[in-house]
Amino acid sequence: MAKKSVEDIEVQGRRVLIRVDFNVPLNINMGAISDDSRIRASLPTIKYLVDHKAKVILCSHLGRPSGKVVEGLRMVPIAKRLSELTGLPVSTASDCMGREVEDKVGALREGEILVLENLRFHAEEEANDAGFASKLASLADVYVNDAFGSAHRAHASTVGVAKHLPAVAGLLMKKELEVMGRLLHDPERPSACVIGGAKVGDKMELLRSMMERVDILLVGGGMAATFLKTQGYEVGCSLVEDDKLGLARRLLQKAEERNVPFLLPVDAVVAEELKAGALTRVVPTTDIPSCSHIADIGPQSIELFCGKLAKCRTVLWNGPMGIFEIPQFAQGTRSLATFLSTLNATTVTGGGSTAEVVQEMGLSGKMTHVSTGGGASLRFLEGATLPGVSVLLDKE
Ligand code: ADP
Ligand code: MG
Repeated sequence: MAKKSVEDIEVQGRRVLIRVDFNVPLNINMGAISDDSRIRASLPTIKYLVDHKAKVILCSHLGRPSGKVVEGLRMVPIAKRLSELTGLPVSTASDCMGREVEDKVGALREGEILVLENLRFHAEEEANDAGFASKLASLADVYVNDAFGSAHRAHASTVGVAKHLPAVAGLLMKKELEVMGRLLHDPERPSACVIGGAKVGDKMELLRSMMERVDILLVGGGMAATFLKTQGYEVGCSLVEDDKLGLARRLLQKAEERNVPFLLPVDAVVAEELKAGALTRVVPTTDIPSCSHIADIGPQSIELFCGKLAKCRTVLWNGPMGIFEIPQFAQGTRSLATFLSTLNATTVTGGGSTAEVVQEMGLSGKMTHVSTGGGASLRFLEGATLPGVSVLLDKE
């Protein structure tokens, strides 16, 4: 069921509490923001509310202060960056509730922006404490959730507040739900899913869910070794999850039963040491040397995968094809990213590392959608109902 968004309600002159995801990476020594894409992702909603003369109150968590005030995790630098990005004044408070906050909210005029202090300075936030949620809600007339990346967690600011206020989606949340919802329920076909990353264990449910929805599955990354081993191949010293071999076998069987091609890499970049400068070789996956690790998919696999994807109208990609952090093992991931960016199809990426590669290569604008929610997009694509989404008002 579609959810109501900020566009479906009256906001002028009203105090609007927006849960955003301002959990940006900080440079540890300098306390500077090393990547502001999450702030940028929330700009459409903030601008919409400013333009529609709402009184804008923003709240977020930042890092893991575990219920204590941590000076290095205050929201001040984020408010400053937001002010630079919007060209508008942005005020801050030294807490997310209490007298000072109430006074500042009371003084807000239409179109003005206030950023509350880090929600996780209070342990009650993550505990979804009812009293804390009700105090937070008392600051506003309307609640907007634009933090898709936090929607899989039932916290006070993602779930608890919605009990007390009309709750709607922000524009980023709306886009995530629309694009990913279509991917799950009504993808243009043929559709494909490319899955990589370190472990099968992390992506088991995703594989299971996508198998029921797509026409072809392609698997690379570290997890490919577990699938290769379950088919009887030697994988040298590659990372294998021995406790997942049975599950991997059942997934392959299920794909066969459903007639969904499940492709594994046919060649791999291997190395004896997984570090920069290591000696590498390209070998067929049927012939992995005994002391080697699979560190990336090889050129023939890239060709095979891209050949299959070329025929698809929808592609979901989650998880790098190799240890992309080390340049020698990044080719598979980078080639796939480049290929998808040129594909005339709906292309969606999920996963933190995947988004990082796409962004770093400057290809975000060439994909249909780069999901901002790591764990949340994974849960969503597994078919789960996200607690922070289910509390939002349904669209009639
Ligand atoms: P995402 O965040 O996009 O969902 P994951 O978290 O599942 O992706 O996996 C990302 C990690 O997987 C990266 O740190 C990468 O180095 C690792 N990885 C990819 N291929 C391999 C491999 N062959 N061996 C070990 N680790 C790998
Ligand atoms: Mg990850």
